[in-house]
Amino acid sequence: MRCSVCGRRDAVIYQRHTGRALCRECFIEDIVRRVKQEIERHEMFGERDRVLLALSGGKDSYTLLDVMLRIHDPSRLGIVTIIEGIPGYNREGDIEWVIRRAREHGIDIVVTSYKEEVGYSMEELVNLTIEKGVRVTPCTFCGFLRRRIINKYAREGGYDRVATAHNLDDEAHTALMNLLRGDYARLAQMHPRAPVLSKLFVKKVKPLRKVYEWESAAYAWLTGYGFQETECPYLRLRPSFRARVRAYMYELEREVPGSMLRFLEAIDRLAEPLARAVAKLPELPRCEICGEPTSYNRRVCAFCDLMAKIGAEEYFRRLGTKIPATRT
Ligand code: SF4
Ligand code: ZN
Repeated sequence: MRCSVCGRRDAVIYQRHTGRALCRECFIEDIVRRVKQEIERHEMFGERDRVLLALSGGKDSYTLLDVMLRIHDPSRLGIVTIIEGIPGYNREGDIEWVIRRAREHGIDIVVTSYKEEVGYSMEELVNLTIEKGVRVTPCTFCGFLRRRIINKYAREGGYDRVATAHNLDDEAHTALMNLLRGDYARLAQMHPRAPVLSKLFVKKVKPLRKVYEWESAAYAWLTGYGFQETECPYLRLRPSFRARVRAYMYELEREVPGSMLRFLEAIDRLAEPLARAVAKLPELPRCEICGEPTSYNRRVCAFCDLMAKIGAEEYFRRLGTKIPATRT
């Protein structure tokens, strides 16, 4: 079958949501064009901005880096990669390609780990939660730690933006979850135009947010990603609500191709006034222990609170304090 766009080359991809069959070149061009369009639509960053790419080393990361190298000046890019320290999930191959490509393009790169940053690997954090009988999933730690570490390097490196490799599927699932929970604050904050609420936060952008997960994977394979992606063993402990929302949305997408994309576009339009309203909120207070921004109603941030509950002495020792006795 010939490509629906150029009509010259053989098609290698069938894009269900557009009904088109595309050759390798037209498919790559389509993804790059859509990412660029999304960046411009929401003014995610300008050509002079320095952007720190948070790369895990997986397929989406590969796609993000490849697209960014085509549309942004490499001397204005940086990379941060974080090793969680999860048994059976070392991702050495993944991290190797990130380092290699960074070197090829002269991009500054930081490879760090949970252990280096807070004194505990993920395995050690999980063991502490079991010891103390605290009911919290490993993904909760990743949620806190990745955000915190990436933001720290972006802030210290003087970057204007942090770019993550979240794709359309991630965004649509999270938007539906927030909607079903009635969590409009989170819905507003995930909007690409939502401002940051603290001078200590570097604005996060998600250039792949309108690219389907399968498209991002296909792009990665077609542009040279040749690794076997390993799956995190803690994935099965993920909150079941997210898993159910995922399954439901995939079922809808199978029946009505393009429904996830249109859903996210609708959410973008509906949540934009909410996102603009966020700008009127005051600066977030700072945690009394770690100094990072915390919610309006807290003196100690949720992360320090969690680390206190699991008895993470080393974390507090590094901050020059003892484990706080009570929850704030
Ligand atoms: Fe972290 Fe959960 Fe992802 Fe594993 S599945 S890397 S624990 S967020
Ligand atoms: Zn704190």
